[in-house]
Amino acid sequence: MEQKLDKQLKLTRRSFLKTMAAGTAAASAALSLPGVALSEKTDAATFATPSSIAFATDRQIEIEQPDEKIRYDLIDSHLHFTDFLEDTDGFPALCRAMDASGVSQAVIFGMPIAKQWDATMETAPSYYLSNDSRCYYYSGTDFILAEELLAQPLEIRKRFFPFCCGINGNDRFAADHIRQLLRLYPNFWCGIGEIMSRHDDLTALTYGEAPHVNSPAFLDVFDLAAEEGLPVLVHHNITAQSEERVLYRKELEEALAHNRNCNIIWAHIGISRRVEIQNLVTIASELLDTHPNLYVDISWLVFDYYFLDRFPNNYMDGDSLDDWAAFMDKY
Ligand SMILES: [Zn+2]
Repeated sequence: MEQKLDKQLKLTRRSFLKTMAAGTAAASAALSLPGVALSEKTDAATFATPSSIAFATDRQIEIEQPDEKIRYDLIDSHLHFTDFLEDTDGFPALCRAMDASGVSQAVIFGMPIAKQWDATMETAPSYYLSNDSRCYYYSGTDFILAEELLAQPLEIRKRFFPFCCGINGNDRFAADHIRQLLRLYPNFWCGIGEIMSRHDDLTALTYGEAPHVNSPAFLDVFDLAAEEGLPVLVHHNITAQSEERVLYRKELEEALAHNRNCNIIWAHIGISRRVEIQNLVTIASELLDTHPNLYVDISWLVFDYYFLDRFPNNYMDGDSLDDWAAFMDKY
């Protein structure tokens, strides 16, 4: 395990962020990868037992070619294998799409929360925002990912760093559930996440309390991750949607302070749809300066909304592309 941790720590925060910067321009699910040695073959590819499932998913899909010439070899740090319906096009199709985008490898995970199709709805939802039906924690997502990946030939398996994510962050059994996955798929998982903490509409539509990153269940997961040398990718909004005051920063800081041996990757630097705040560069810089175990990814909306100021409602966040470039350069 120590050797695994050493490998994982080879990529510094600086080189990791550089990788991210290279990727966002071309890949639809953007890049980053803290804590994992990208040039190494994954344990998953090398040691895990192949799956016995006879028919892995392989869908013929239309793949859009990028407008720009590919200039970098990209590693995608935030790639969901399944959507909110827990559906997937399968690894071969995914690899063809990655090839078209210049993405050689990816951190991959399922979708920890699924959208329910209510009995009263004639039309099936396609996204968590499709209607106001509830969403629920779906632990099966990890098994779909593991079995499909292990059913692939080595040349596909070695392109992926699988993370497990199917837990409810309110449940104090969460760490135990992850322990089971680590036992069932030894030497397979490279990290934990994307775990859902505060995620505006998505977590608001789950049953029960909205999960938050400093809850006892999360803290147990961080302890387990530290013990196993696994990074944890967490979606935790910096604030509520349509609220400029920063509401949830303290929760993240408490989580970071809990176990400094656990590296936490803050997905999307804490933003989400309709989460619009000023001075995100300053806030992220302060947090990165204060918490050595914090990493960020700039996937999803960060590049378009915050870097390029392309908010759907013409919101101005106050930071320019130059500010973001300096941020990327520094960290
Ligand atoms: Zn995500």
